[in-house]
Amino acid sequence: MMEGCIFCRIANGEIPSKTIYEDERFRVFLDLGPATKGHALIVPKAHASDLFELPEDTAAAAMKLAKKLGEQMVNNLRADGLNVIQNNGEAAGQTVKHYHLHLIPRYKDDGQHILWNPGEVSPEELDLIAAQIKG
Ligand code: AMP
Ligand code: ZN
Repeated sequence: MMEGCIFCRIANGEIPSKTIYEDERFRVFLDLGPATKGHALIVPKAHASDLFELPEDTAAAAMKLAKKLGEQMVNNLRADGLNVIQNNGEAAGQTVKHYHLHLIPRYKDDGQHILWNPGEVSPEELDLIAAQIKG
């Protein structure tokens, strides 16, 4: 546990939450500022500030849980779709510095705008960017 980290305290049961799933490694609870009905957070009990600090096997296990719980949420809430979102760094919208994966059930006409505005790029720029990422 990391001193002063609210998700460490929630994940480890020190602060109550509306838990929908728990095992030795994770707690999954409802977001208190939900984007839509059922918005939940998959949170590892061991502190890692973001994806880069998260052990690889925990990252894999979190995605496995997203598949299982996401399907359950869509079926039982009769949602029309699901966004699986994970923010790293302030520039990417991360406000809580303890890794978490958002499960956001989507409903036709739910009024949310989670997708981005598509930009423009030339084939030459795409070549440069791909080369830059490969390093
Ligand atoms: P992010 O912006 O990706 O860091 O997401 C943080 C999320 O945590 C937001 O959707 C908040 O509404 C949610 N949140 C913050 N504090 C709590 C809390 N105590 N219990 C449940 N959800 C929380
Ligand atoms: Zn923490």
